Amino acid sequence: MYKFKSELDKIDEVYKIKIDVPFQVKFVCVYLFKLADQYVLIDAGFNSPAWKKKFLKEINTIGLNIEDIDVCIITHNHLDHIGLIQEFKQKNPNLKIVMHNITNKILEWETDKSNKEEIEKEAIRVSIEMKNYGLSEEERLRIVKFFTYWPKLRKYQTPDKIVYDGDKLLNDLEIIWTPGHSFGHICVFDAKRKYLFSGDHILSRITPHIGNFIIPDFLTDEYVDYNFKNVLEHYLQSLDRIDKLNPKIIFPGHQEIIYNPHERINAIKEHHKNRLNDISNVIKNNPLTPKRISQIHFGEDLDDINSYMALSEVLGHLLYLEDRGKIEKFEKNGKFYYKS
Ligand SMILES: [Zn+2]
Repeated sequence: MYKFKSELDKIDEVYKIKIDVPFQVKFVCVYLFKLADQYVLIDAGFNSPAWKKKFLKEINTIGLNIEDIDVCIITHNHLDHIGLIQEFKQKNPNLKIVMHNITNKILEWETDKSNKEEIEKEAIRVSIEMKNYGLSEEERLRIVKFFTYWPKLRKYQTPDKIVYDGDKLLNDLEIIWTPGHSFGHICVFDAKRKYLFSGDHILSRITPHIGNFIIPDFLTDEYVDYNFKNVLEHYLQSLDRIDKLNPKIIFPGHQEIIYNPHERINAIKEHHKNRLNDISNVIKNNPLTPKRISQIHFGEDLDDINSYMALSEVLGHLLYLEDRGKIEKFEKNGKFYYKS
């Protein structure tokens, strides 16, 4: 049995509740603070009874119960950020759950059982694309399993308020749409105190995964100006937007509090610049499949999930370079190759 640990910290006016999760990111941080007489919670943690127990224990030590929380803002639709929304709402019907329009629509679509076939079809489409990028048939089938499995773990809760980029809450909280790690990802900016709640958009030690995701057709139709072929570009633009806000402290969904936001943002940008250069150099007059490039970069003995993440990371950079006309893609024997 996995043993959960938790920790409570107070940074300025913000409570940080850090609780373990039994996977890669190691722990999840949710934040609780008071604004305009309301208790605001950023993210809803991980859906597990043990996680919930730890969360309740920590808020009890500051004299609060679920019933005392007024607003819960969800940064993005991943499992470790939306986990307990349904339970929170059941326990406290007065709780106002806030989500971005995209997060709401994707969650609703993914968790609606009548969309099972459509999701499977999409997963197959993505997996075939990945096979063209160099995956084996065995790896392709595992991707289909992966994409059809995760939606089953999510629980949907209709939000009480749907937000869009630039919306304001409780006077001082600004919603910043920061697509990249997830299409509907938002950061929450406390303009008065210059606090930024960054979800997984900005982390202290690792650069968040910029991925390809399964997006329902009605959303691609709604967001016609969004370049789905160059998510990395959107991510980098989102970083610049945050930098311009000049936050004093960043409170991320994992890892440590960031006290030097500008430096951290620059370091993330630098990381992507270097990776773009490295990838460009590897394929200079040397056409390779994305899979091969990812093996060169990340090694060949990764497990399933990590080898898919590595491919997806490399692909994000290749699509950026292709979109900018810096590299070329061509097909040979049913596989896609890139060269610069
Ligand atoms: Zn996360």
